[in-house]
Amino acid sequence: MERVKLTDDLNFSRMIHGLWRLNDWKLGDEEIRSLIEQCLELGITTFDHADIYGGYQNEALFGKALALKPSLRDKMEIVTKCGIKLVSKARPEHEIQHYDTSRKHIIWSAENSLKNLQTDYIDVLLIHRPDPYMDPSEVADAFIQLKEEGKVKHFGVSNFTPSQFAMLESYLPFPLVTNQVEISVSYLQTFLDGTIDQCLQKRVAPMAWSPLAGGSIFSNEDEKSMRLKKALQEVGEELNVSELDKLMFAWLLVHPANIMPIIGSGKIERIKSAVDALQINMTRQQWFKIWIASTGENVA
Ligand code: NAP
Repeated sequence: MERVKLTDDLNFSRMIHGLWRLNDWKLGDEEIRSLIEQCLELGITTFDHADIYGGYQNEALFGKALALKPSLRDKMEIVTKCGIKLVSKARPEHEIQHYDTSRKHIIWSAENSLKNLQTDYIDVLLIHRPDPYMDPSEVADAFIQLKEEGKVKHFGVSNFTPSQFAMLESYLPFPLVTNQVEISVSYLQTFLDGTIDQCLQKRVAPMAWSPLAGGSIFSNEDEKSMRLKKALQEVGEELNVSELDKLMFAWLLVHPANIMPIIGSGKIERIKSAVDALQINMTRQQWFKIWIASTGENVA
């Protein structure tokens, strides 16, 4: 599996596995351990979490599976996030959903993630969403302390606009290593609003969430989904690839921004199919055929 260099001492696997839906998969500890090992065998070493996934439960599910075979920890990179406070039975003190990027909350959340994940370091901690009430000097203090204590190796953001990314980075003594944003054949905004431009400018590889648009393309019958399915099928015929998911991953992978798609399925056949997309050489014209199907208009 191709590796992506984020810093001198940090590489991610090009394909990442995402654990947002882990509690929906209803897997036992042994099954989760086995899924992790199968991902590692495929070369997927980077796992994406957030404190809130599964109503604050998923990190602990993963941690319990990891505890069955602690030697797996050194073979992987763990990404997790903080900053969203959900209304949840697990957090009765939250009266409304809100963001908290205070120094105190970032440090508390990272330490709680360490406990849940049963590990003593997080490879990359992301601020989950831009916080309109953010004090960037507090974020910087929290990041510096977590780094000095060896609890978090590197930091990044998620869903940040280019100006939010640049603003936060200007307070830090080290660079942000990634911006995790929505990118898919169905969601092109990040190509149009400067997000991908900034990643290219700064040589920062973006992580792509919902790379299959959350699976909606497979079930939706609206005009855009139908146009996309038709274009993907036509391109697939030219490339001798029948699986639409594989083509949707390939569309992200061939782009020059070094996009790292986060696979959202717990089914090993689908994970393998995503990895196979690395072999597809989609041409520029095929890429644009899918772009045009998504926007519904020819480029000027
Ligand atoms: P996705 O790949 O766009 O969607 C996954 C969904 O698509 C699953 O329900 C899956 O079903 C379904 N699917 C996949 N292949 C399919 C096929 N061939 N036919 C029908 N359905 C298919 O990814 P995602 O789960 O939305 O997001 C991926 C990861 O991104 C998450 O796990 C999380 O780590 C991250 N994320 C981050 C943010 C953020 O704000 N930073 C937001 C959302 C997600 P099965 O489970 O049945 O395979």
